[in-house]
Amino acid sequence: MLADSYGRLATDLRVSLTDRCNLRCTYCMPPEGLEWLPKPDLLTDDELLRLIGIGVTRLGITEVRFTGGEPLLRRGLPGLVAGTTALAPRPRTALTTNGIGLARMAPALAEAGLDRVNVSLDTLDPEVFETLARRRRLDDVLDGLAGAARAGLTPVKVNTVLMRDINDAEAAGLLRYCVERGYELRFIEQMPLDAQHGWRRDNMITAEEILGRLEAEFTLEPADGDTRGSAPAELFHVRGVRFPNGEPATVGVIGSVTRPFCGACDRVRLTADGQIRNCLFAREESDLRSLLRGGATDDEIAERWIAAVSAKLPGHGINDPSFLQPSRPMSAIGG
Ligand code: SAM
Ligand code: SF4
Repeated sequence: MLADSYGRLATDLRVSLTDRCNLRCTYCMPPEGLEWLPKPDLLTDDELLRLIGIGVTRLGITEVRFTGGEPLLRRGLPGLVAGTTALAPRPRTALTTNGIGLARMAPALAEAGLDRVNVSLDTLDPEVFETLARRRRLDDVLDGLAGAARAGLTPVKVNTVLMRDINDAEAAGLLRYCVERGYELRFIEQMPLDAQHGWRRDNMITAEEILGRLEAEFTLEPADGDTRGSAPAELFHVRGVRFPNGEPATVGVIGSVTRPFCGACDRVRLTADGQIRNCLFAREESDLRSLLRGGATDDEIAERWIAAVSAKLPGHGINDPSFLQPSRPMSAIGG
């Protein structure tokens, strides 16, 4: 098992399939994009499936999430999903995407065994979308959401980052839009992971502010009880509001910075170039690619992976005066 010295078990593997993206969200990347990872450094589909197989069959991984960069840009995605869901025991398999191209891809992904998707949507206004993501693609994202629901990749979850004076007035409107369509909305506090190092604590929209904005229009009631477990989102019922299927409507708030959930974290990350990171904010990585390409056995790879997780720190340290942002940006780690 992938245990660390604070008693946590890593069972949720986040696999970044590429650091490239067709959007340029301001909280993630500069307008010109980044210096992308060189192609030969990227793991091939076979290499990825070998590592995922080791994680699932030997190391207790029960959930695999494909992310990036934009994972829909990876041509082999349906094959990677099929290879992952063919493993025994079968891991739950999910995707985090900006939704562009999802309308077209969703049926093939569902067919390959994908269970669920999270789609990032920060605004319903095409102009604001262009300001935030520097591309005019809002309609593609909304089509992607609808396509995912049609293909049965449910419950469709929506991730939203609010930025002050850009889209922070849209919290309630986004909730209404999502609830009407049966999408589960989660707001995520902006984290210091952008390549440009533009994050400022005093400019961040906090979980408390997000809740305040929602409560101006809705009544929220805590919905977690004792069931939150390792889930990062604090979940709320929206009083008197139901999803189209009749279930009580919910909304989540992920206070990564002001309400950290590191003590219950069950995640481990594999970058597109084959490095294990035991935390989004880790300053060290463990190189599985050189082992893979140097002819290592599954045992040797598993051993390095176990050592990487055992060194996990108790928390991300964003709130410590000595905090240093990791050198890899979010898009190259896998959000
Ligand atoms: N491109 C895909 C997408 O946007 O969903 C997957 C990768 S993206 C890095 C994963 C998630 O991280 C998205 O929901 C995005 O909004 C979020 N994200 C990116 N930068 C962030 C930041 N600085 N703070 C908080 N969330 C961030
Ligand atoms: Fe691309 Fe996702 Fe980063 Fe936006 S958040 S630039 S969609 S990787």
